[in-house]
Amino acid sequence: MNLILLGPPGAGKGTQADMLATFFGLTKLSTGDMLRAEVKTGSALGAKARGIMESGQLVPDDLIIEMIASCIDDNKNRHGIILDGFPRTMGQAEALDEMLGKRGLEIDHVIQLVVNEDEIVERLSGRFSCSSCEKGYHETFAPPKRKGVCDKCGGTSFSRRTDDKPSTVRARLAAYNEQTALILPYYSEARSLVKVDGMAEMDKVFNNIKNLLG
Ligand code: AMP
Repeated sequence: MNLILLGPPGAGKGTQADMLATFFGLTKLSTGDMLRAEVKTGSALGAKARGIMESGQLVPDDLIIEMIASCIDDNKNRHGIILDGFPRTMGQAEALDEMLGKRGLEIDHVIQLVVNEDEIVERLSGRFSCSSCEKGYHETFAPPKRKGVCDKCGGTSFSRRTDDKPSTVRARLAAYNEQTALILPYYSEARSLVKVDGMAEMDKVFNNIKNLLG
């Protein structure tokens, strides 16, 4: 089963992708995570992507398509993949169909997480993660059980994404509305795009998606 999770920044795509990947045994492919890893290691791609990501714009299609194509080529998991944060433009959506088609694969479900934009800035500006194990938290909605101590690994150092500050979040939302939202009709016309309320509680969103996938 090959899935795409669509939705604006802050819709919970990463969290739901992790939960679905675990439940269905899928390989999660997140272009945002891959790019952040490239920035961290200081690769040539990371150097090109860094400033673009910090401004909330989209990284050019050719770089993204090359990066994801090699992951799809290398994927040996017969259960399938779940795509988080990709595709984000029509060019990427078409390239994805071509990549999968060459391997006799296709997208089985496209899930659109629908969220209220006014709440996104609050959601994103409050999120942070453990610097050691990367477990995610939110100041108001999901703080660590013991203040300043990671529930998962006991780490005491936390960090925030540099693109989660309000001005950059607004640029990311604009990129979503002006570029990514344009691919929704492509999926709804061609195949089964389903909308899921992303404002519900995390486990409820997960159960709704799980039920839709049968
Ligand atoms: P995300 O973690 O998915 O919110 O992505 C963080 C940032 O990485 C985005 O704001 C973009 O700058 C860049 N990015 C991630 N995925 C893509 C993509 N598919 N196409 C273009 N840029 C991307």
